Amino acid sequence: MTFPSFPKPCAVKEMYGRCVKPHCRDSHEESKSYKIQKYLMDAKKTVDIAAQAITSHQIADVLEKLAKGGVRVRIIRDYDNLSLLKGTEKVSALQKFGVQFKVNGKLDPEDPKTMFVAGIFHHKFVIVDSKVLIHGSGNFTLKAVLQNYECAVATNLPDVVGKIQKHYNNCWESFDNAILK
Ligand SMILES: [Zn+2]
Repeated sequence: MTFPSFPKPCAVKEMYGRCVKPHCRDSHEESKSYKIQKYLMDAKKTVDIAAQAITSHQIADVLEKLAKGGVRVRIIRDYDNLSLLKGTEKVSALQKFGVQFKVNGKLDPEDPKTMFVAGIFHHKFVIVDSKVLIHGSGNFTLKAVLQNYECAVATNLPDVVGKIQKHYNNCWESFDNAILK
């Protein structure tokens, strides 16, 4: 998949799922971001997300549905990009449904309000059921879908998916839960 898409997807539809703008000239066809959502919606057991930032409410809604349906959803994101979903409200809602969050750091055992962060968590990938990997240059943001020049590749090659899953699991073990600012 490559971005930006032509014809240009409708930003209103991307944001809210449908467009109510009269005479809107943008495309209302199934967008590439919807294709990524469909991969997620196929999940039966697990979804593991690594992302520097997530601001797409549509992705958040899909994750909420999956978590409610019993899929284990884990998210690791970059500590310095905690502007996830424009605030903590949605994160708290997702947590209520069992979505687990971590950031690229370790809490200071002496002071649980301080986090030691090493390096930028620059990853952008999703693994569905340990079988499908979607890996690309973009974060889960509207900008990545509507404006930016990005690409993403989906693969089910067991060797590739297995290695990235192992890396994800190692990251998960070595990081702490996110402090919500
Ligand atoms: Zn529209």
